[in-house]
Amino acid sequence: MRIVCVETMIDLTEACCAVRGARRAARELGLAVEVMATLTYGPTPSGYRTAMGVDVPQTVAGLTRAGADVLGSNCGNGIEQMLPIAAAFRALTALPLLVQANAGLPVLEGGRAMFRQGPEDMARHVPSLALAGASIIGGCCGTGPAHIAALRRAVDAELGG
Ligand SMILES: [Zn+2]
Repeated sequence: MRIVCVETMIDLTEACCAVRGARRAARELGLAVEVMATLTYGPTPSGYRTAMGVDVPQTVAGLTRAGADVLGSNCGNGIEQMLPIAAAFRALTALPLLVQANAGLPVLEGGRAMFRQGPEDMARHVPSLALAGASIIGGCCGTGPAHIAALRRAVDAELGG
């Protein structure tokens, strides 16, 4: 299976253009391609929004219309903050939901953003995230092979393989 993943988007129009572009390219090349698209949200006084002000309902409507096979959220947050974001998506769509959290919130050390959440600490939130509606769980900034392995073990334990 071929997958195109459009991620870390903050503008819905750009995300939808990317999804439609991937669809068109796949069609022209005669390839079967699944297209995933995820935006990056942060907490605001009016709920989770991207830096361009896009909320989850707008995201679901736009990406569904553009033809995304999988949608969701990546980056911007630790896994705890992905729980309400995942629940907001799940309330509005039956499409598979992809969630790729950072390894906690960044801490500035010597001018560099460091992500300090360890693999097991991140993975202990997998049951809650699955319950909130996440279908595919991965990692973004600060995660590495050990995080992905811990998330995989937690997903297997949660879903029975
Ligand atoms: Zn990231």
